[in-house]
Amino acid sequence: MTALIDGKAAAKRIRAQVAADVAAAYPSREQAPGLATILVGGDPASAVYVASKRRAVREAGMRDQHRSLPENSTQEQVAAVIDELAADPAVSGILLQLPLPKGLDSARLIERIPAEKDVDGLTTMSAGLLARGQYGLRPCTPSGVIELLDTESVPITGARAVVVGRSELVGRPLAQLLLHRDATVTIAHSKTRDLAAVTREADILVAAAGVRGLIGAEHVRPGATVIDVGIHRTDGGLAGDVRAAELDGIAARITPVPGGVGPMTIAMLMSNTLSAAQWARG
Ligand code: NAD
Repeated sequence: MTALIDGKAAAKRIRAQVAADVAAAYPSREQAPGLATILVGGDPASAVYVASKRRAVREAGMRDQHRSLPENSTQEQVAAVIDELAADPAVSGILLQLPLPKGLDSARLIERIPAEKDVDGLTTMSAGLLARGQYGLRPCTPSGVIELLDTESVPITGARAVVVGRSELVGRPLAQLLLHRDATVTIAHSKTRDLAAVTREADILVAAAGVRGLIGAEHVRPGATVIDVGIHRTDGGLAGDVRAAELDGIAARITPVPGGVGPMTIAMLMSNTLSAAQWARG
């Protein structure tokens, strides 16, 4: 039998722990960590994501410092808001919701976020700190994957880990995190030859290619742990990068979509916001 990894339960536990830590360290709400989400324009999916992040912030007893900017905002206007939040000691974390409307250079805007407030872990400084193994804020989805592996007591040290996908947001930072935990890591990507031969080596296989149903029985070694990061909206609901039904009885455990990695991302954002506030306190 293949076990399902319950990301919803793990995320709930982490969010409750963050709320308890916030209540203990910041008895007054006015002093509590604050997350400034920035939403530019009215993209409906982005609005839903930002609303759920803001709700999670309030539920954790932290301060919701949201900023909404019009669709036609200029690069300079968005930059000015980021600079203001960066200089404000009451703001612990800054999250620029992506994608931005056409005409805005998101890479340049992200770089204005100081590493100490980079709760998405996307700046070059944060990526450098991660690559060097130095203290910093890590991207939320990859650190959520590590949390799930730890929750399930999956051995990482010495394990063969294959990450399918090399994006700045997921694949690359996740490979670094696994390496820091002493896994033997391979990154596969769109130019990898014979993907199945590579992924069959994996004790821990992470699918983060953004290709629906890419990974099936032929890709998985019996007894492997399979983490499905992919999210695809289909007529039948959400689907992942993995053909999960095919892996039943092959994989030891697998994250479902939905209810696997997805809920961990917001939980780790809450955890990062608290870490950012503590970093600011020294
Ligand atoms: P991306 O498109 O930026 O990167 C995809 C990566 O996969 C690329 O590096 C590419 O080389 C590789 N790839 C593409 N096709 C491939 C193939 N056929 N074989 C092997 N490798 C291939 O995507 P992303 O931002 O990293 O997101 C990946 C998936 O994860 C998407 O489905 C996205 O929706 C999902 N996602 C989920 C969460 C979450 O909270 N669960 C967070 C972020 C992204």
